[in-house]
Amino acid sequence: MSYKHVNIMDVSFLNIERKELFQTIIYPSLQKQGKQFFVTANPEIVMLANEKPAYKAMIKQADYVLPDGAGIVIASKLIGNSIVERIPGFEVMTHLIGYAEENGLSCYFLGAHQEVIEAFIKRIKTLHPNLLIAGYHNGFFDLDDPNIVEHVKKANPDLVFVALGSPRQEQWITKHYHQFDKGLFMGVGGSFDVVAGKVKRAPESWIKLNLEWLYRLLQQPFRWKRMLKVFQFMFRVLIRKY
Ligand code: UDP
Repeated sequence: MSYKHVNIMDVSFLNIERKELFQTIIYPSLQKQGKQFFVTANPEIVMLANEKPAYKAMIKQADYVLPDGAGIVIASKLIGNSIVERIPGFEVMTHLIGYAEENGLSCYFLGAHQEVIEAFIKRIKTLHPNLLIAGYHNGFFDLDDPNIVEHVKKANPDLVFVALGSPRQEQWITKHYHQFDKGLFMGVGGSFDVVAGKVKRAPESWIKLNLEWLYRLLQQPFRWKRMLKVFQFMFRVLIRKY
């Protein structure tokens, strides 16, 4: 089946409603123990891909790139090829954890600081008492460390959530993906910190107003430099159009 895509600065985004994404792409693959690699990309990631060809090559290896971040949806409108829905990685992860619990699928969680991953696992066990947790590991290791990938492989997970931030999470996935026979692999950035309660996600009203980035900036002001990338991104999208 072929799906609609929208190209933004040479990153090809899947243009689909999230319900359809789950029902026609993700669930069937999980049910037949297939392999899938998802990137959820925001403007910072698109900019990084344009600055670093090696990183762009990794993104191109993904089966699907999902539009995370309101900036991507706004950019799609500016170029006259609207993306139907924003699909944040955080929401895909939380939804799939629920699906895994209901369907007896196991999850591996790789990333974040030791105390964060421990708090994350504790919270997940409370929220999803029947979830099969294949394993977990903090995110501070050498990307080439064979022990980490061995640990994940031995656990034989159906879903692998990698929270190392970009580009590290995509680097780890593309480096080791070929060693796995099955599994859904997805980079989820700072999502473990949010579930662990270390970082707050923006309230629904801010998200609706497309102001999640501002909320994040207020919580983590050290990000201001990275935020500038969002403005550069918008500017470049506009320049290309007019
Ligand atoms: N992280 C990690 N290993 C590293 C660097 C970062 O596990 O070497 C974790 C970090 O602790 C955080 C996540 O990766 O949990 C990245 O969060 P950030 O909010 O920076 O990611 P973004 O969503 O912006 O890509």
